[in-house]
Amino acid sequence: MASFDYDLFVIGGGSGGVRSGRLAAAMGKRVAIAEEFRYGGTCVIRGCVPKKLYVYASQFAEHFEDAEGYGWTVGESTFDWKKLVAAKDKEITRLEGLYQKGLANAGAEILHTRAELTGPNTIKLLDSGRTVTAERIVIAVGGHPSSHDALPGHELCISSNEAFDLPELPKSIVIAGGGYIAVEFANIFHGLGVETTLIYRGKEILSRFDQDMRRGLHAAMEQKGIRILCEDLIQSVTRNAEGRLVAETMKNGALTADQVMLALGRVPNTKGLGLEAAGVAVNERGAILIDAFSRTSAPGVYALGDVTDRVQLTPVAIHEAMCFIETEYKGNPTSPDHDLIATAVFSQPEIGTVGLSEDEAAKKFEDLEVYRAEFRPMKATLSGRSEKTIMKLVVNAADRKVLGAHILGHEAGEMAQLLGITLKAGCTKDDFDRTMAVHPTASEELVTMYNPSYRIKNGERIG
Ligand SMILES: Cc1cc2nc3c(=O)[nH]c(=O)nc-3n(C[C@H](O)[C@H](O)[C@H](O)COP(=O)(O)OP(=O)(O)OC[C@H]3O[C@@H](n4cnc5c(N)ncnc54)[C@H](O)[C@@H]3O)c2cc1C
Repeated sequence: MASFDYDLFVIGGGSGGVRSGRLAAAMGKRVAIAEEFRYGGTCVIRGCVPKKLYVYASQFAEHFEDAEGYGWTVGESTFDWKKLVAAKDKEITRLEGLYQKGLANAGAEILHTRAELTGPNTIKLLDSGRTVTAERIVIAVGGHPSSHDALPGHELCISSNEAFDLPELPKSIVIAGGGYIAVEFANIFHGLGVETTLIYRGKEILSRFDQDMRRGLHAAMEQKGIRILCEDLIQSVTRNAEGRLVAETMKNGALTADQVMLALGRVPNTKGLGLEAAGVAVNERGAILIDAFSRTSAPGVYALGDVTDRVQLTPVAIHEAMCFIETEYKGNPTSPDHDLIATAVFSQPEIGTVGLSEDEAAKKFEDLEVYRAEFRPMKATLSGRSEKTIMKLVVNAADRKVLGAHILGHEAGEMAQLLGITLKAGCTKDDFDRTMAVHPTASEELVTMYNPSYRIKNGERIG
């Protein structure tokens, strides 16, 4: 049997890489992990974590306004962007340290270098030029924002990476994209007082979400003052004499702003990774092709997380890593389960969702019951804020199974996590009905919608 330097070599110190490296090392495997930028990866350094911190920051202006209705007088408030960026940096540095500590405690060798494959079992470490061998290799290199090179002036634009660390808070921003990253940043910047325009070539933002969620959010964002331009796109970006950016659009003329952010999809980090040398096949987008057990086309080489282009979320990358460990090191072949993934959009209001949208369910099931409630959340009564919460359950009439649960409103992400358990457990609408309400909450609506709002038969809405 060939002897290798390591049992496992992990390329990429993000969500999926760190989890697989840590668990394998804790089992006594000889593990090395290489990270070219910062441990924690996209999620910790320039994704979920800093984003959520910025979402919190962006909500205070509304909190201050709302306080008045509850008897408070809030003095003049000011916002310091640099202070927020510094506080965020401190927190992500702390988390980065924890990630490394977890790996070190488990006994993994932590490398700060770019790593590239040179063959099926060999990896080159770019800082030293050293080549090492490993029995198994996990590729968990994630992705990066598409720079959209075809757009004239793209080099003047920022992506989500730069948005976290801008030297100054812009007075105005144009954000291109209609996915959750574009929508979340539009809400963040608007909440921090930035004049914000969202431009998206599609008909509706968040096209993969339930129609009530995307339309409800669209209306709420416009009501707050975010300008949303759908079915339009930026054709070029230039800098004018005052140093501001001018985005020429197809339909809405020139948009002048301090920053233009492109959130037009992400690209797998596979360029120059040596995949050909190792015999690892990719698809036309550069994402690594894998089987149901995250095995690539090269024996002993595995890929997980965003680089495989399955579902690009942190818990999914972590789950795929855990399945890899079960399969390869615990003799328990486990294929990642991508069904019924609960997820959130940290917009304002939030979207929390799990399961099928109404449209998706209507394509798959003959007879649906849709339970829908739209109401003003209690907090908005005294604050006087005009806002709506929408809750919706999509139910298969044949067996009463809840196929989809969708919420637009405060803490919708938190609710989606719990709804995820119920849908995963296969709960029926009758299970919801016999669950006692928690009063007074917004989520009690989920167990008190006794009569369907309408039905859908063979794709046609009835009633
Ligand atoms: C703005 C933003 C917000 C997001 N918000 C959420 C959210 O709210 N919830 C959620 O679940 N997900 C969110 N995500 C997605 C989430 O961050 C990713 O799905 C997750 O980080 C994927 O983990 P990963 O291990 O596949 O890759 P990553 O976390 O991207 O880690 C890959 C690592 O590999 C390193 N690397 C790349 N090439 C090499 C190489 N050759 N050698 C060494 N190191 C290398 C990179 O530097 C990186 O650190 C967000 C993403 C973005 C961009």
